Amino acid sequence: MKKVLILGSTGSIGINVLNVIKNLPGKFKVTALTVNTRIDLLEPQIYEFNPEIVAVKDEKLGAELKKRINHKCKVYTGEESLCRLAAESDYDIFVGAMVGSAGLLPTIEAIKRGKRIALANKETLVVAGELITELVKKYNAEILPIDSEHSAIFQCIKGESGREIEKLILTASGGPFLHKKKEELEKVTIEEALAHPNWKMGNKITIDSASMMNKGLEIIEAHWLFGITPGRIDVLIHPQSIIHSMVQFVDGSVKAQLGLPDMKLPIQYALTYPERDANNYERINLADIGSLTFSEPDFSKYKCLALAYSAINAGGTAPCILNAANEVAVDKFLKGKIKFTKIPVLIDNALEKIQNYNSPDLELIFDCDRKTRDLVLNMN
Ligand code: NDP
Ligand code: MG
Repeated sequence: MKKVLILGSTGSIGINVLNVIKNLPGKFKVTALTVNTRIDLLEPQIYEFNPEIVAVKDEKLGAELKKRINHKCKVYTGEESLCRLAAESDYDIFVGAMVGSAGLLPTIEAIKRGKRIALANKETLVVAGELITELVKKYNAEILPIDSEHSAIFQCIKGESGREIEKLILTASGGPFLHKKKEELEKVTIEEALAHPNWKMGNKITIDSASMMNKGLEIIEAHWLFGITPGRIDVLIHPQSIIHSMVQFVDGSVKAQLGLPDMKLPIQYALTYPERDANNYERINLADIGSLTFSEPDFSKYKCLALAYSAINAGGTAPCILNAANEVAVDKFLKGKIKFTKIPVLIDNALEKIQNYNSPDLELIFDCDRKTRDLVLNMN
């Protein structure tokens, strides 16, 4: 049985990971779980999956959980607890299912132990892709994508050599505002932005999908995962979310991976790779779906997408600035402090004002992340 640690077990991905594990009895044993604050959701997970250790980032809530579960398992609490768990606990697979660049340090701890990283937490690769790639090589770790587009690409390139890839084609649903004109985005509400047509996800990524920053982050993620330059990564709008992404090869052949929009599939593949395990999830019926449609993204409407391309082209700490500014801007939007259209404006300002450094080490990345957050927090 493979032992699994899930960082962010109470989120949309974390819950799906536990479902996948439940559906493959005898294959995986959950040994460690972490959350930020939601101990009410963590508590039943402890009773059902019997992890040896859990970590709760919030100190007070962690202490409360300890009292409630009464020695059922060890509870680490506080800011350092996630890293401690990643560095010390017993596991084979580290599932990065927490949101934001706060996942970076625990992921590095897992890489240093040469583990398999099943990665949903794309922000980690966006802020520190160069460093993470080096560390993965140095410590003989492996990163397997959970993000559906990257899982699709990973499946398409199996058996091919990197030299044969001409370009990657990331598909994007276009989010809830696909049919709105760019002027109409000025007035959209939080509820409208959170109403994704195809996927049920955490709030942060749902807003990123509405602004298409999610696709922007995914271009950067794909660049680091597959070593393809940003100029050879295209985005294609595909509202049905059935083709999860495609790879075009040097002979003009294009491979695509299809499936229903359900994260359980890419999660299962990242856990069981190189094997494919049978499951009884719903199958795709193309005759019922009828037609699959495609269009080019409008960069003047989806400004975040253009900003992401320019950040990865600039390189260095620019993607870290892009990500930190986006995390703060999305939080402000979700709290009703700024309009939806202000998100790219704040990110653009941050990219202009914060200095970019090449090949940053961890200290420089954290410094840049902190400076950007301070700047954007104080912008209106
Ligand atoms: P959710 O918001 O649903 O869940 C986030 C999880 O991380 C929760 O367990 C949460 O704990 C924990 N967490 C949040 N912030 C912190 C923090 N600062 N420190 C420690 N733990 C924290 O997010 P999703 O599951 O939707 O997304 C997770 C990641 O996967 C993101 O990077 C997203 O981009 C990526 N992803 C998600 C997809 C999806 O379908 N949802 C698809 C592809 C990628 P608590 O419950 O206590 O708040
Ligand atoms: Mg995705």
